[in-house]
Amino acid sequence: MKNDSILTDHLRILPPQQKALKKIDILTVEDILHYFPSRYGDTSEIKSIESLARGEAAVIFGKISGLKMKKAWKKKIPMAEGMLEDETGSIKVVWFNQPYLAKMLQDGSFVRAEGKVSERKGELYLSNPKIENIAKLPLHTGATSLFGEGNEDHYLYPVYPETRGVTSNWIFHAIQKVFKSGLLDELVDPIPESILKKYNLPTLKTALIWIHTPKNKDDALSARKRFAFEEVFFIQLEKHKSRKLWQQHDSFEISKKFSELTDFISRFPFPLTEAQKKSVNHILDDFKKGVPMARLLEGDVGSGKTAVAATASFAVISTKPKNQDFGNLQVAYMVPTEILAEQHFESFVKYFAYTGVQVGLITGSGARKFPSKINPLGATNISRSQLLKWVASGEIPILIGTHTLIQKSVKFKHLAFSIIDEQHKFGTTQRQKFRERGGVIPHLLSMTATPIPRTLALTVYGDLDLSLLDELPPGRKWPITEIVLPNTRGQVYEKIRKELRSGRQAYVICPRIDEPDPTREMALIAKSVTEEAKRLKKDVFTEFQVGVMHGKMKPGEKDEVMNDFKDGKINILVSTSVVEVGVNVPNATIIIIEGAERFGLAQLHQLRGRVMRSSHQPYCYIFSETKSGKSMDRLKALRTAKSGFELAEFDLVQRGAGELYGRKQWGLSDIGMEAIKNLKMVEAARLEAGKLIEEDPELKKYPILKNQIDEKRKQFHFE
Ligand code: ADP
Ligand code: MG
Repeated sequence: MKNDSILTDHLRILPPQQKALKKIDILTVEDILHYFPSRYGDTSEIKSIESLARGEAAVIFGKISGLKMKKAWKKKIPMAEGMLEDETGSIKVVWFNQPYLAKMLQDGSFVRAEGKVSERKGELYLSNPKIENIAKLPLHTGATSLFGEGNEDHYLYPVYPETRGVTSNWIFHAIQKVFKSGLLDELVDPIPESILKKYNLPTLKTALIWIHTPKNKDDALSARKRFAFEEVFFIQLEKHKSRKLWQQHDSFEISKKFSELTDFISRFPFPLTEAQKKSVNHILDDFKKGVPMARLLEGDVGSGKTAVAATASFAVISTKPKNQDFGNLQVAYMVPTEILAEQHFESFVKYFAYTGVQVGLITGSGARKFPSKINPLGATNISRSQLLKWVASGEIPILIGTHTLIQKSVKFKHLAFSIIDEQHKFGTTQRQKFRERGGVIPHLLSMTATPIPRTLALTVYGDLDLSLLDELPPGRKWPITEIVLPNTRGQVYEKIRKELRSGRQAYVICPRIDEPDPTREMALIAKSVTEEAKRLKKDVFTEFQVGVMHGKMKPGEKDEVMNDFKDGKINILVSTSVVEVGVNVPNATIIIIEGAERFGLAQLHQLRGRVMRSSHQPYCYIFSETKSGKSMDRLKALRTAKSGFELAEFDLVQRGAGELYGRKQWGLSDIGMEAIKNLKMVEAARLEAGKLIEEDPELKKYPILKNQIDEKRKQFHFE
């Protein structure tokens, strides 16, 4: 048996189990060794049958027999029953509505049962217990320990996440077989020994034993720590490596001074904030270095990232290609939605009109260009192919678009600068493609408003330099945030009516619906949006125009709605959380968020950002039906927190890494996310990875490590 052996070659695995294993991504020996318990049970929790009392919850190990199916006492509900027996006595076990359970268990087999002790006519019984086959009975039944030669009076046993067809117990035994094969002695630890020693982490072999069969909780914790460190360490190595590679490329040298941009900047209807100026300067410095820039611009919604991107773009397009005294270097600006693309196109047209350069727009539904030949003050629709021709010849220096920009047919003559807006909305592959088009590598500016904790930023953006817009433009009014429970809904609607009457507009955001199947999820959300809009129009805001927007609408329809909202033809826009993407309607000063407890704090904050764009006082109403005090405390943090980053940190502490907004995108496992709670660990992993790559960029001295990282990269690219 080897680490990369296919499991089915070594263990007897039935087809349904194979299917189940595939579902949880277990194919090889290594996969199952890295399938970690979600928790540990403690045999000290086991109760003997004679000690059971009515009403208590109990874990019992025993032998099951007398299994049969029948109809329940009165209501003819199908049920199954049996007798559970340990050395102290026996108790009846009953399952209502789950008669199939009797078929799945075998008479005379050992089981672990966990459930509530109930009583009927003076007789105790276990009702609807969770039940699972086990190989042997633990300790106090006289048998040897289930899990090693336990001679203490209690021990831990691992509980693995189960899936239909594969039980926790099955996984435990499969892992035991791998352990017995002697494979552990042959494993080579990918983490250099010196690092393990320095941070007091167990070796791979020890960690595997400790995580699957811990003697005590500390060992289990120590093992988890090692695997958490390992994951972040691998990511850091990968990031440092790609950063190193990236910096080996040539790039366009753009040597503009800030003073050369002031004329452009002075045409904005506002002065730049200090944070914006600082970020522009970071970018100008990077432009001069001769290596491609890779910079992340992070700033809360409304912090003015577009103006920074536009100013940097100006520096680029006012530079001529090398050895050429005509033409311009080019800029590609990719955004996640058509609405945003339109909006940025319009802003850029405004900012750049005086320079005389042309601006192009390309989306899934068409292409536009400014200025139009007929009307030099306006933009015009043109054919895609015509637009692409002008981009390829370099005549159009600025091209804004959706992910259509990644397509092969989009070719530039001198692409020197690529901007990705709301970069977290794109997959890794899309970002990679955008970043690495042929020829000389363009400078990259990635922008995001996702407020994430520092630990996570250090990990997932390890290959980027960071500029922070930590200052909102002056005069922004902070939204008055109110948490609204069902009984005050009516009053709040009246307050909103007043605002609407005075000409303001409102967003209503429908709750998030979690559903594993994305198509189904989209349909469900679309339904709830449509129904809420109907309800509001019929029962609450009869005198106003209510519009809807959701993911099932065609791009053209969405644009129409968005334009109607912008033009004030729609007063209330009921929508999914898609409007979270940087849509800019300054007159919309009210946002209602329904089912707020289902969103992460950082996401709520982002949604709230939609109404922070005007000089009118904005309002954010957090509608929640939660009865949990903890949930309420979380929501209350929205009233006091001053930035999205603060809220993200708060969520990390309160709800844990697993609940962080957008976590699916980061490609971290559950155990990797645990590391995110630990700043010291993340910093250590980052430091060690940096040192290693500095001394040995190709990891020639660490072949196993290199291998692991290549695997990891593959995973990232095919996500
Ligand atoms: P985001 O960072 O969310 O992308 P935007 O770039 O869309 O924010 O800017 C939000 C709004 O703030 C826009 O209406 C923009 O014109 C305005 N804005 C940007 N910078 C400033 C500034 N320095 N002063 C005042 N308003 C600004
Ligand atoms: Mg934006």
